[in-house]
Amino acid sequence: MHQIKFVIPFLFCLFCAEEKTDEKWWHKKAAVMVEIQIERRGVKDPRVLKVMRDTPRHRFIPPHLEKMAYLDGPLPIGEGQTISQPYIVALMTELLALKGDEKILEIGTGSGYQAAVLSALVSEVFSIEIVKNLVDSAAVRLDKLGYKNVTTRWGDGYKGWPEEAPFDAIIVTAAPDKIPQPLIDQLKAGGRLVVPIGARQQELKVITKNEDGTIQSKNIIPVRFVPMVHPKDSIPIKGLEIER
Ligand code: SAH
Repeated sequence: MHQIKFVIPFLFCLFCAEEKTDEKWWHKKAAVMVEIQIERRGVKDPRVLKVMRDTPRHRFIPPHLEKMAYLDGPLPIGEGQTISQPYIVALMTELLALKGDEKILEIGTGSGYQAAVLSALVSEVFSIEIVKNLVDSAAVRLDKLGYKNVTTRWGDGYKGWPEEAPFDAIIVTAAPDKIPQPLIDQLKAGGRLVVPIGARQQELKVITKNEDGTIQSKNIIPVRFVPMVHPKDSIPIKGLEIER
């Protein structure tokens, strides 16, 4: 009996130590990631740098890849899709020029990582994903991790989320070959759309909507994203209606 009394607290302490090591492990990795991969490449917004340090990227990727979570590159998340390189997530977030009270739309939920990063910086995040398995697991993951201001939906992001429009800013994490007009329509005047555009050669662009509804476009850097499934593509998706 004495032995059991001793063994149980001992095992419990071992478990605590494991947990603590895990916490230390990822905080250290995230801090180095921010310094070397993000700050050195020119991202400056302190709120963006902080949220990149505080978001557990390893919780958004398949368990067997966890140890690679803070490396300088994209990683597979299943269904042929990828979680973007940390620098690109930080850069796109900075380009949104957020103040804290925005209502944001993301196209391409994927793992939910970009949505989690945005969650801490704005008032509400709406995120659409076209692959059902991905959006289902991202929704569970975001909920478990406590990101309560993120709402996800299975659907075709090319059409935006008209019921929740207008948005202060929109971020697209899959590349359409041209700017989706519905996204411009659902952007508030003065709002920003951060989007990679192009087929093989893609350019990350910041599109600003003027008060009179016209737009201005600025090229940032060449990038490589997975293609956005376009309404004109004839990809049958079971149960999901795609307008052609
Ligand atoms: N932001 C994600 C990574 C996105 S990868 C993250 O942080 O993990 C791009 C995602 O866009 C993929 O999951 C892909 O399935 C999705 N996608 C492609 N076309 C789409 C469309 N038309 N509407 C919504 N999502 C789309």
